[in-house]
Amino acid sequence: EGGSEDSGDDTLVMATNAEFPPYEYHEGDEVVGIDVDIASAIAEELGMELKVEDMAFDSIIPAVTSGKADIGAAGMTVTPDREESVAFTDTYAHATQVIIVKEDSDITGPDDLVGKTIGVQLGTTGDLYATDIEDATVEQYNKGFEAVQALTQDKIDAVIIDGEPAKEFVAESEGLKILDEAFTEEDYAIAVAKDNTELVDKINDALATLKESGKLDEIIAKYISA
Ligand code: GLN
Repeated sequence: EGGSEDSGDDTLVMATNAEFPPYEYHEGDEVVGIDVDIASAIAEELGMELKVEDMAFDSIIPAVTSGKADIGAAGMTVTPDREESVAFTDTYAHATQVIIVKEDSDITGPDDLVGKTIGVQLGTTGDLYATDIEDATVEQYNKGFEAVQALTQDKIDAVIIDGEPAKEFVAESEGLKILDEAFTEEDYAIAVAKDNTELVDKINDALATLKESGKLDEIIAKYISA
């Protein structure tokens, strides 16, 4: 089992959404980032070749469950809901959801989000949390950066998004800040088809090797300065 129709058994097909720097983003025609480097190091450990398929974030789990992709690697948070559809490998990164606001905003923490208009990337955990906030209006965007642009244009009051892309998007924008108080703590892992325990085991072994050798830290340090 596994492998997409147009690739052989020695190809590891990775579904991702390259709108999430520094984990996956476009550099010219190429998709690069932490997840791409980790997946390619895993593929190397497995004696396979990595093929990256870029798609909408909410298409990644369907791609994995249907067998179109072998793995989903997209800064994807392990959630009980997703665990109903896919298996997750061991985690490889710790993350937070943060709140981005205008520099002059009166929003100082999660409690101030009640009744506000909040931008999120469709289908992400930020989307999930925003939906739980009392009387909040949630605006869903296809790309995280589109939510940040809407904030710059005063169309919304805040954005809930993962901490690392938040830093990159705020650096590329004017007049925005990230609130000190993080919204939640999360862990990223790679999604695999539920019945493919063999691949989960192989990836976990490869991840352990990469953790031990220091290669994983090296990849992360290449993209995130401490
Ligand atoms: N970590 C978030 C999630 O899993 C966002 C991931 C993403 O946008 N690529 O929902």
